[in-house]
Amino acid sequence: MTTSSPAQLLDGKALSARILDELQQRVSAHLASGGSAPGLATVLVGDDPASHIYVRNKRRACEKVGLNNIHHELPEDLGQDRLLSLIQDLNQDPAVHGILVQLPLPSGFDYDEHEVLAAISPDKDADGFHPLNQGALMQGYRAPIPCTPKGVMRLLDETGLALSGKRAVVVGRSNIVGKPVAMLLLARHMTVTVCHSRTRDLAAEVGNADVVVAAVGVAKLVQGDWIKPGAVVLDVGINRDEEGRLVGDVEFHAAAERAGWITPVPGGVGPMTIAMLLENTLEAAGL
Ligand code: NAD
Repeated sequence: MTTSSPAQLLDGKALSARILDELQQRVSAHLASGGSAPGLATVLVGDDPASHIYVRNKRRACEKVGLNNIHHELPEDLGQDRLLSLIQDLNQDPAVHGILVQLPLPSGFDYDEHEVLAAISPDKDADGFHPLNQGALMQGYRAPIPCTPKGVMRLLDETGLALSGKRAVVVGRSNIVGKPVAMLLLARHMTVTVCHSRTRDLAAEVGNADVVVAAVGVAKLVQGDWIKPGAVVLDVGINRDEEGRLVGDVEFHAAAERAGWITPVPGGVGPMTIAMLLENTLEAAGL
């Protein structure tokens, strides 16, 4: 798993394929012993093209693993009340073990994302975004872990490094990536710094880190020469560069010259998110 550069590539595509195979075996064994297929409900509101692609990839993964996908594709003007009523129906449906409402919800309508996420039963919260589950994560209780942060930790574990006492810098403080990643790193006894748009000297913060997680959404914000030699660089960002190519938040080639391990974009964190979504659904179904 090496590139021509000194850093080793953390290959999320390969790791997620291994995880999906393992999940598929778990589902097959469950079906063979008379169980029924776990169900993941996917709810897509509106016409956002990126959301359509994300949901399509999640649905394909369900098919591959043998999960039952209950899909709802709804008009952008559906409205908050009808969306909440659908979520209540899914909460009550015993064939549904996980519920995913694709974000962002259409802008210009009356949707309140916080209210929508809080309406999902915490036991069926495949994305791990429910406030009770996020609180549980903060206090270290067992609960569904948000998929992208969980995938980041799996990739980090691939390095085999001892994390306790080392320094981690998380760039970005969103509820779906930055904050939960910081909690997971803290739970592994790392010294964690969370940086954001008002951080004064991002280069100096990143330069101190043994592990860097970039979750911002700004192409190549984290410059290669900021990276501490030998550090692990986990790039969550999905952006388009000037030529329209998919790039992360990290200057990949320059960072790979200094890092010990690095995730590519695409093919790093992205595929892990889907694998973790399916894993969360299996766990919710007791598999
Ligand atoms: P967000 O917009 O909710 O949060 C971005 C964070 O970056 C904010 O906390 C903000 O303070 C910080 N930030 C903005 N400008 C900054 C700057 N100049 N310096 C330092 N910090 C800055 O984003 P998000 O939902 O957490 O997503 C972040 C990125 O990760 C996006 O590119 C998104 O597409 C991607 N993403 C990828 C996956 C995946 O599966 N790979 C999943 C979720 C998000």
